[in-house]
Amino acid sequence: MVTRAERVLIAGAGPVGLSAAAYLTRRGVPVTVFEAEGSLPENLRASTFHPPTLDMLAPFGASKRLIEMGLVAPKFQFRDRAHGCLAEFDFAVLADDTAHPFRVQCEQFKLNHLLHDWLLAQGGADVRFGHAITALRQNGDGVTALVETPDGGTEAVTGRWLIGAEGANSVVRQALDIPFEGFTWDERFLVVSTPYPFETAMPDLTLVNYFADPAQWFFLLQVPGLWRAMFPTRPEETEDEIFDPGRIEARLQWAHAKAEPYETAHTTLYRVHQRVAERYRTGRAFIAGDAAHINNPLGGMGMNGGIHDAFNLGDKLAAVWHGEADDGLLDLYETQRRPIALDYVNSHTIRNKQNLEATTPAAQQAFRDFLAEVSSHPQKTHDYLLRTSMIASLRAAAKITA
Ligand SMILES: Cc1cc2nc3c(=O)[nH]c(=O)nc-3n(C[C@H](O)[C@H](O)[C@H](O)COP(=O)(O)OP(=O)(O)OC[C@H]3O[C@@H](n4cnc5c(N)ncnc54)[C@H](O)[C@@H]3O)c2cc1C
Repeated sequence: MVTRAERVLIAGAGPVGLSAAAYLTRRGVPVTVFEAEGSLPENLRASTFHPPTLDMLAPFGASKRLIEMGLVAPKFQFRDRAHGCLAEFDFAVLADDTAHPFRVQCEQFKLNHLLHDWLLAQGGADVRFGHAITALRQNGDGVTALVETPDGGTEAVTGRWLIGAEGANSVVRQALDIPFEGFTWDERFLVVSTPYPFETAMPDLTLVNYFADPAQWFFLLQVPGLWRAMFPTRPEETEDEIFDPGRIEARLQWAHAKAEPYETAHTTLYRVHQRVAERYRTGRAFIAGDAAHINNPLGGMGMNGGIHDAFNLGDKLAAVWHGEADDGLLDLYETQRRPIALDYVNSHTIRNKQNLEATTPAAQQAFRDFLAEVSSHPQKTHDYLLRTSMIASLRAAAKITA
């Protein structure tokens, strides 16, 4: 069956696809979202919402609800075992740069529910669960997605444009034959959640804490009701070894030694990549979010950057849809957003990892010197927080006009 319609097709009801859907709906552009799963997936991944992302999500009521459901984190720390807190940064210095001078710690799936509810409340939202995009074809008039339906059939749906926001294994990116350049880290990252109140044992902790260590760096961050610790695993460790309760306990004891064993709520192992797609557009099809770029989670930039993609692209699609600009504007999406993924998110997250895992005394000292320098000069602190909050990346993208 072939369905023809004037609309934007969106693959994936993750944070990026739903942000694009909400933005376009608000600008009066009809959308259809295809989600392979039967309902909104609730996997545990991102937990940090950065200030400009909260600014963008505010018109949908989502920022207010994320703040209510999550934890407001105005500060974050770098620490090591020998010195304790190396530096603490406070987003309050960004009060003139954002309406939300703090991070919010809240699970990303809660945003998906908020945006989906907002779409439903607008009436006429077309979000199709159990519909997986399997292929696409396009011509000068439109783009057609082939979609596997819940009954096992295949539907062909045509729209004016298509956004592939179906995550790192994007079918859209593969169908467009776009190389996903970069590399995969040898070590996988283990995330362990525990209800243990680290804030009681270490009262000077903030809600987000990165621990540098040459033997085993880690981060500790709080989400409602739980702390999440993330550790790199050694490349030679098998999954059985990694998930061995004794080894998980040893890793938590390494983070903070205590007499009683830890209670764990979840454990998840992730393969971690640094990859950016060679192109973000082919004709009428675009890619955004993890479909276009993936990075390590140190700095919490993957989902946030993907949502920034969605708003950037949505703005341009809406302008062309309403006849306020011609198709050429759509090329600016890649021109503005791809350098951010490459030069900003990729390099920032790689540097974060290298700083935390530094093994030589000289490299460790250089990191401490960098933190001391940044902390002690108000202008440098401000610039640093503009970068870590991703405000700087949005300003840099806005300056690219051709
Ligand atoms: C441990 C960990 C911690 C992280 N922490 C942070 C953080 O704090 N901050 C941050 O910004 N980022 C973080 N990230 C990264 C973040 O989770 C991702 O960048 C984010 O999920 C990307 O969103 P997305 O919408 O592009 O893709 P996804 O969230 O992967 O959503 C894609 C959706 O598409 C659906 N789909 C897949 N294939 C198809 C198909 N063929 N047809 C239709 N639908 C399909 C999937 O079911 C899914 O619902 C973290 C990642 C990890 C692993």
